[in-house]
Amino acid sequence: MSRINVMLPYLGQEEIDAVADAISSGWVAQGPRVAAFENAFAEAMQASHAVATSSCTTALHLALIVAGVQPGDEVVVPSFSFIATTNAPVYVGATPVFADVDAITGNLTASTVSAVLTAKTRAVIVVDQGGVPVDLDAIRAVCDPRGIVVIEDAACGSGSTYKGRPVGAGAEIAAWSFHPRKIITTGEGGMITTSRQDWADRARRLREHAMSVSAADRHGSVLAPAESYLEVGYNFRMTDLQAAVGLVQLGRLPEIVRRRRELAAAYAKQIEDIPGLRTVVDPAWGTSNFQSYWIEVSPTFPRSRDEVLAHMAEVEISGRRGIMAAHRQPPYASFAAADQLPNTERLTDNTLILPLFHQMGESEQARVIDALRKCALSPSKGTRPEPVEGIE
Ligand SMILES: *Cc1c(COP(=O)(O)O)cnc(C)c1O
Repeated sequence: MSRINVMLPYLGQEEIDAVADAISSGWVAQGPRVAAFENAFAEAMQASHAVATSSCTTALHLALIVAGVQPGDEVVVPSFSFIATTNAPVYVGATPVFADVDAITGNLTASTVSAVLTAKTRAVIVVDQGGVPVDLDAIRAVCDPRGIVVIEDAACGSGSTYKGRPVGAGAEIAAWSFHPRKIITTGEGGMITTSRQDWADRARRLREHAMSVSAADRHGSVLAPAESYLEVGYNFRMTDLQAAVGLVQLGRLPEIVRRRRELAAAYAKQIEDIPGLRTVVDPAWGTSNFQSYWIEVSPTFPRSRDEVLAHMAEVEISGRRGIMAAHRQPPYASFAAADQLPNTERLTDNTLILPLFHQMGESEQARVIDALRKCALSPSKGTRPEPVEGIE
């Protein structure tokens, strides 16, 4: 029986050729391919400006700086996200403040954000968790009048839509990831998109040591112009090797999203018939790319989430625990009161991510469904926690 992975990147000969071309050109660091990838990405995401970075984590770091977040400020984040969402404010000396997420979408809402705003709140980082679009307009309606910047962590969001446009298009600034666990990949890599020219210009400088002249321009001329370093910058650059891959991957994005949505629909149709499992669905305001296909295991299901994962592993199917909760990690253990994030805790404890990747076939999907059905029929081996009130 062959192993079914939770995720596989979708790469082919075109990516290999593109990297070979970049190497043959003799230019491998940030250069013309990064610029071309930025332009193509901005166009695809309907953004005014795009600035490539080494990762989404470094993109979030720069986004907070250009948005003016200062030491001592508070930045509202969901605990229910990959750890980078919470770490980024700490990099600029700010304090992450956890808001709970919606029990269905797993995303921040206007009311969960409102509940934790204070006079010190300078920014909110919203996430399109697992590709499910966040209701950005509702959150901006609360934040804009107070001068609070909303930063969209769209790490998982390439190819998802919000109100008929790509996610991120309605944000002042958004950060993207091209890690292989995400929808398109450059190995490692990230992007900032923004509607503001001044923020784009500053992010572009900060990602390469805050140099007044870009390295590409310096090395492209025989006599390099003298550069100066206007503030303390970083090396957060993407390479042309990565951008070459990114350009090909971006071209594949519509096809990848179409296939993922097809597979997600097939999952949903079959899991509907298994009592005690809830699937993630499109919210009213947009469509998901199903970057992560997660299901919630209810207390009435005969097996716990961890028992389901263990059974899947026995039959060579690799699932994952649902999205983590940052407030349970040591650096942030004191950042949330015990009962402050009930939906976050419930989702992180009871959800799991099923395999979903472009190359997945019907027989592989049938094996996953079969494993879930077996769990539904078998009596529990372990102990089950008491059912929590209010959960089906
Ligand atoms: C993956 C992820 C990141 C980090 O992306 P990198 O490119 O690996 O730095 C940040 N935020 C969210 C929500 C993510 O899922």
